[in-house]
Amino acid sequence: MQVLVTGGAGYIGSHTVLSLLENNVDVIVYDNLVNSSIESIDRVEKLTGKKVEFVEGDICDKEKLSRVFKQFSIDAVIHFAALKAVGESAEIPLSYYQNNVHGTVCLLEVMQQHKVHNFIFSSSATVYGEENNVPYVETMKLGTPSSPYGASKVMVERILADLALSDSKFRAVSLRYFNPIGAHESGAIGEDPKGIPNNLLPYVAQVAVGKRDKLRIFGDDYPTKDGSCERDYLHVMDLAQGHVAALDWLNRHPDFSGVEAFNLGTGNGVSVFAIVKAFEQAINKKIPFEVSPRRVGDLPAFWANASKANKELNWQANRSLEQMMTDTWRWQSKNPNGFLI
Ligand code: NAD
Ligand code: UDP
Repeated sequence: MQVLVTGGAGYIGSHTVLSLLENNVDVIVYDNLVNSSIESIDRVEKLTGKKVEFVEGDICDKEKLSRVFKQFSIDAVIHFAALKAVGESAEIPLSYYQNNVHGTVCLLEVMQQHKVHNFIFSSSATVYGEENNVPYVETMKLGTPSSPYGASKVMVERILADLALSDSKFRAVSLRYFNPIGAHESGAIGEDPKGIPNNLLPYVAQVAVGKRDKLRIFGDDYPTKDGSCERDYLHVMDLAQGHVAALDWLNRHPDFSGVEAFNLGTGNGVSVFAIVKAFEQAINKKIPFEVSPRRVGDLPAFWANASKANKELNWQANRSLEQMMTDTWRWQSKNPNGFLI
């Protein structure tokens, strides 16, 4: 089986490519490296002892994409390529809609031309918006996320639904990720944000390694147990295996057509204070922090109802919070400058 992985050099993509190779799936990565480094792919090849075909290109470049579909016999596409910084998306919304929405339409058009019907999409818990109560379940209506980034994910989910109505061969799985953290247990690949990290764990890890002086905790006056926000953090290797499970689900359901959404999370909410404490325990060192005002757009708490993925994909997020912290630290301490070598 051959799978095209767009955005496969990125954080979740590189871990998923590793899991796919370990499951004897051949992988072609298509990435423009706008937020990643080819070094991640080299390391995945070293870790697995297997070859990855890499094509540098933009998903908006339909001619280049088409050449890739001609060159390889592609059975399915896993589509990670997107811009993902929530705050930045409010500053440059057009770039987000161009990359995430228009780019996905280009990819779907090229897939259609080449009669490739299997599609796995990187969606997000953000599609539940502010309207839905926790825990989020797949049967809930799509919400109205506050950021252009979140809106781009809702738009793509709608596009997939419309495409499925028009094309009875189209088979899509939309994986709604909660908060992926951690790194491969080797510490050879991990999350390598450019500039100041937006996300909690990369920031905490950079404080721990001495690159930033202290963490700012955005708000301690939320209606939660300790006043800080709660999220459903899952290990990136569990998330990677969720993609292998989704591919297997498509293979096990040859008569399926349409779009099926699955939440990928642990089902538990963990607060920011609890994350800081867990990280301190894992590395046996204090993380300096101060409480700052709330960050615009943050919801107080959300986590997944993951029973559908547990039951239908035979998938579960098994790795513990402690392992998420230890693996984050192994990656960060071995690679204080990320993939810059
Ligand atoms: P990432 O930035 O590390 O990876 C995205 C990859 O896509 C990068 O390698 C980047 O170079 C590439 N890319 C971006 N635009 C491209 C384009 N136009 N053409 C070709 N390649 C392009 O991000 P990630 O954290 O690995 O996220 C992967 C996917 O998962 C994204 O779609 C993201 O929106 C989604 N997601 C991420 C999270 C999270 O917390 N990390 C949560 C929910 C959903
Ligand atoms: N957060 C924080 N300080 C930071 C980054 C994040 O307190 O420097 C908080 C943020 O307010 C949220 C949680 O950590 O409650 C997770 O934020 P992240 O950006 O990692 O994920 P998301 O907002 O997508 O859930």
